Amino acid sequence: MRYLTTIGLEVHAQLKTRSKMFCACPVEFGAEPNSHTCPICLGLPGALPVMNEEALRLTVLTGLMLDCDIADVSKFDRKNYFYPDLPKNYQISQYDMPLCSNGSVPLHDLAYPKDAQKNIAVPDKEVRLVRIHLEEDVAKSFHFETTTGIDFNRAGTPLMEIVTQPEITSPEEAFAFLTSLKQILIYGGVSDADMEKGQLRCDCNVSVRPETQTELGAKIEIKNMNSISGVRHALTYEVARQIEALGRGEKLEQETRGWDDVMGETFLMRTKESAHDYRFFPDPDLVPVKTEGLLSDVRARLPESPKRKRARFVQQYGVTAYDAGVLANDLELAAYFEKAARVSKKPKAIANWILNDLQSALSTAGKTIKECPIPPEALNELVALIDSGKISSKQGKEVFAEMFASGKSPSAIVQERGIEQLSDTTAIERICDEVIAANPKPAADFKAGNAASLNFLMGQVMKLSKGKANPQMVGEILERKLRA
Ligand SMILES: [Zn+2]
Repeated sequence: MRYLTTIGLEVHAQLKTRSKMFCACPVEFGAEPNSHTCPICLGLPGALPVMNEEALRLTVLTGLMLDCDIADVSKFDRKNYFYPDLPKNYQISQYDMPLCSNGSVPLHDLAYPKDAQKNIAVPDKEVRLVRIHLEEDVAKSFHFETTTGIDFNRAGTPLMEIVTQPEITSPEEAFAFLTSLKQILIYGGVSDADMEKGQLRCDCNVSVRPETQTELGAKIEIKNMNSISGVRHALTYEVARQIEALGRGEKLEQETRGWDDVMGETFLMRTKESAHDYRFFPDPDLVPVKTEGLLSDVRARLPESPKRKRARFVQQYGVTAYDAGVLANDLELAAYFEKAARVSKKPKAIANWILNDLQSALSTAGKTIKECPIPPEALNELVALIDSGKISSKQGKEVFAEMFASGKSPSAIVQERGIEQLSDTTAIERICDEVIAANPKPAADFKAGNAASLNFLMGQVMKLSKGKANPQMVGEILERKLRA
């Protein structure tokens, strides 16, 4: 029996705003606990919320980047539940009039886990979205040995929830979705999307069903995943567990599970019977939002999406689709490439240097592209030196190593080391004449049809020029003279 897997994700992304969603308290990771609170985010009686316009803008911007429909009018609702980390006993969220609906996230090949990139089920898949809405985050509990502490710094920070259609079909695809989404959020400056800091969190709904069955299997939710690789592991475990249970003839029920990263397994948290009834109702303290003004504002600052950047790199700089993918994978790397490529006659060569030599040098040195000792302009200069024949590509490697080590410009290094390549036709011709005269036998052999003799003669010219002669020119000149 073959089984089909259906996965839907609910992703929470912390927005990169300076202040909280409904008050002026600063948003700051790692601040002294409970130092960023006020009557509004502590839910004290009589405190009134005021909307953070930047959070609205960032959500609309995300919606536009993901080709969503933006609501003309959107509103906030109260989601009622009782929990220690929720000071008001309700969370301000959006129920039936979210800011964005529909839209999709395009998955990129390089967003899949490395070991799965060769077996992508549906290349260029786009995962459709149900909606994107805006809400406030809850506080954070810290469990100590005998007590629990609550830090309200996070309470009331803006949180964007992105809900997908249930159309992800494998844990690898879920991984690719989150990686692609994270990249788009970073491109948009919407969120730093750092999962380790809790800036991107995810709930996964997963069900399996026999291939022959059309109706979806029981929906099982895995709560509070906080790493992309964790999502893949948890889903892989859960899919296998569900298939095994169905194989034993068990009937699966809708339930909520947690993920134990240490044990590498999911565990039951609650069944359907204890599911919440949130009793949503419109928040009477907040007026509905008209998005017209926001939209024109946001359209004016809409950044390029990763997908568009990849396509543009191919078209504008003639790099391969794969290289464009790697370059655009990191916004900083893409910016570096573009600074060098924009002024270069050889943008493809720039891409090669970045993807091979520069990336390997950076990783050996444990540096990021931001800390790169070679400015993009200097890389362009190096490529130009090689292209014009001033130095050979082999010498280029040496110069590159020195540039990376010292930060010096390539022309300064070439001058200092005196490694400029000899590309003067007259000078090379003179050496060639000398070599031919000194080696009559190989010269005669070549004339008689022994092509290999040319290599010997070339070697002699290179030796005489102390390795400085332009090898391509040497080959051409020797051949011309011998055939004359
Ligand atoms: Zn506050």
